Amino acid sequence: LKLWIDGPAPAYSSLIANALERGVGYGLASARVDQICGMEVVLPTGDVMRTGMGALSTAKTSAQYPYGLGPYVDGMFSQSNFGIVTQMGVWLVPQPPVFKATMMHASNYEDIVPMIDTLYPLRLQGVIRNGVSLHPYVPGMSFWNPEFTAVEQPKGNAQPRLPGWGGRLGFYGSSKVVDALSEQAEDEFAAAIPGIKFESQRFSQPYDPATMDSDAKMIAGIPSFQAMPVWNHFGASVSMVFPTDGKEYLKLISVIDGVYKQYGWREIGGAIHNHVARATIALTSIPVSRTDPKANARNIEMATHVFAECAKNGYAEYRAPTAFMDIAARAYDFNDNALLRFNETIKDALDPNGIFSPGKNGVWPKRMREDKA
Ligand SMILES: Cc1cc2nc3c(=O)[nH]c(=O)nc-3n(C[C@H](O)[C@H](O)[C@H](O)COP(=O)(O)OP(=O)(O)OC[C@H]3O[C@@H](n4cnc5c(N)ncnc54)[C@H](O)[C@@H]3O)c2cc1C
Repeated sequence: LKLWIDGPAPAYSSLIANALERGVGYGLASARVDQICGMEVVLPTGDVMRTGMGALSTAKTSAQYPYGLGPYVDGMFSQSNFGIVTQMGVWLVPQPPVFKATMMHASNYEDIVPMIDTLYPLRLQGVIRNGVSLHPYVPGMSFWNPEFTAVEQPKGNAQPRLPGWGGRLGFYGSSKVVDALSEQAEDEFAAAIPGIKFESQRFSQPYDPATMDSDAKMIAGIPSFQAMPVWNHFGASVSMVFPTDGKEYLKLISVIDGVYKQYGWREIGGAIHNHVARATIALTSIPVSRTDPKANARNIEMATHVFAECAKNGYAEYRAPTAFMDIAARAYDFNDNALLRFNETIKDALDPNGIFSPGKNGVWPKRMREDKA
């Protein structure tokens, strides 16, 4: 089959779990949750339900038409504890005839502002269609090198060494289309960021993954293990959503850095994922010690302040590590956490005994909310 998967960075990832977690890919189907087409779900009562067209037992379109009739409930099973998905339609990407993977590199920290502002209209127009990941860049040092930590998060209040920025762009289609799209994108980035550099690799069908480096594989949507060295240099991810606007990114990082400084750390920003065009996700991380519980307690306190300061400024997480699920969910505070209360009502109706993943993303079953009160 001439199809690409477009999963997240680690190739071990489950396609179903990652899409349910609203994970991020880097190719043409990077908003993973948008590729879901129909589910079979086991509910906490043991009942088995199918959504979308699959609710019609003779359906011919359960993996083609996601909506069916009536309330569209699939979203309730993503990042949730309302049911266990036992089958799911996941759309794959038909391979284009030609594909070009372009890495761009800019040398100044401030270049992130025109980089994001140039990217945004190119994404809206469909000139750039892949889920674009931007990341700090130091010439000669791979982002995946474990020593990158020292650049990102110097200990103490030392002034961090500010890196430049890199980004992964993909262009797909016929040969002519790929040439036209990549030329327009490169011209616009070059006009906005003097000195920006591009390195491209071009491929055509039949694709041979052995000829692609890991960046090209990620942009194509071919599973890879490139990201795995990062295991050792990030702590717990904090992933805030901000409007796709370069100045907003610097504002968000300054809010986080303002809290970090009070705790003897610095934060200059990490990977940035633009997979839904209009809003972007900024990854930073809360340090985690494998040996020092006191340091971890202090870092969790720092995380609580980070979430509070971000919320005050209009930013919240798109996905939270288990340790931060409660504080991340509480940040969504409109009308006395009306959304959380709604989710608790559904939880209690579907799962009265509270047996599925209690506390997932801050949604606790009634008996455990009473314990906590
Ligand atoms: C170095 C590194 C890089 C990473 N890069 C990325 C990235 O690029 N993009 C990205 O999205 N993530 C990334 N991650 C995070 C993570 O590795 C992936 O999201 C991965 O998909 C999670 O593992 P899994 O697929 O086995 O999910 P699991 O850990 O099995 O599941 C995740 C959650 O999904 C839910 N779930 C799973 N199965 C079901 C089911 N059947 N029914 C209902 N709910 C279910 C559960 O709540 C579960 O806790 C990265 C992690 C690391 C360490």
